[in-house]
Amino acid sequence: MKVACFSTKSYDQESFDRILPEHGHKFTYLEAKLDKYTVSLSEGYDAVCTFVNDHLDETVLKKLARLGVKNIVLRCAGYNQVDLKTAEELDFKICRVPAYSPEAVAEHAFSLILSLSRKTHKAYNRVRDNNFSLEGLVGFNLFGKTVGVIGTGAIGTAFCRIALGFGCKVLAYDLIENKGLKALGIEYVTLDELLSLSQIISLHCPLTPGTKHMINATTLRQMPDGVMLINTSRGALIETKSVIRALKNRKVGYLGIDVYEQEEDLFFRDLSEEILLDEQIARLMTFPNVLITGHQAFLTKEALTQIAKTTLENLDQIEQNKSLTNEIKFSKQKSLYP
Ligand code: NAD
Repeated sequence: MKVACFSTKSYDQESFDRILPEHGHKFTYLEAKLDKYTVSLSEGYDAVCTFVNDHLDETVLKKLARLGVKNIVLRCAGYNQVDLKTAEELDFKICRVPAYSPEAVAEHAFSLILSLSRKTHKAYNRVRDNNFSLEGLVGFNLFGKTVGVIGTGAIGTAFCRIALGFGCKVLAYDLIENKGLKALGIEYVTLDELLSLSQIISLHCPLTPGTKHMINATTLRQMPDGVMLINTSRGALIETKSVIRALKNRKVGYLGIDVYEQEEDLFFRDLSEEILLDEQIARLMTFPNVLITGHQAFLTKEALTQIAKTTLENLDQIEQNKSLTNEIKFSKQKSLYP
């Protein structure tokens, strides 16, 4: 199939080019993000391949349909950026990469936790400045701490296993309980219990209308003072203005985020020569106890290889008119996450 690949970075191209010959699809790599201004670049292609911040809203989907491009392969797990209802009405085929390396994201969540708990981000800068003082670097042990995990799917499960390895007590909240995790000693509790009992809270549920701003002024109030909050899932799970207030009044003692509510205009680009206009991320960066990475939790060699492999297999299945293993459909999601 002829595929227009949007939002391409060098690491995407390398991982796809390595195995493309095994599949026979023809990729055109585009740096542009897919949106209403760039959608016409899809003309003449059989499919578009997109990433987390490409727009697959009603306008773009209607234009794609008019261009006769009715196949979409997402090279990511999350699909909150897709208007699934419109896509289904227009008879699109959409596949994602449901699990490429859950460990990549879970391990990154732990790298945020460990950097914050041991202040490695501060120590790194100090030592480079020949400042070997330990003043202000007192951390805390993870051993024996209570960690709350919201969402125990593929990534949440990998995260729980790592937390158990550190000797943490692990509480979990999900709409569906994972029996395997319970057997390992994970305790499922209500969301209220998790919020009030956990010293570290890590978010691993998808962004849906039901989970948007699940961390807000009310839920933040339920957490213990000085809580560590980690988000490697989707930015809009956290209401940013509320978390800034909670950092100011020390309710939140540590914040580690790989995703940000307004990341679309910032992440995946080098803006080092630009003036930052986003007041909220600018404020977040002033806190010494906030660590931000730019949506890199997925970025390991293993994950990139798996993303390319599954995306190309999804295209093979579409081309061969086979049943689609990784298809996402509005009707199916609606029953999963009402
Ligand atoms: P998954 O589908 O395997 O698991 C999601 C889990 O969340 C499921 O168990 C589901 O039942 C649960 N869930 C749904 N609604 C919930 C709710 N209201 N409350 C509690 N739990 C709920 O997905 P995954 O592969 O584990 O990925 C989780 C999320 O991580 C993705 O949706 C994506 O947004 C994000 N992600 C981020 C990166 C990154 O690089 N930062 C990479 C991959 C995925």
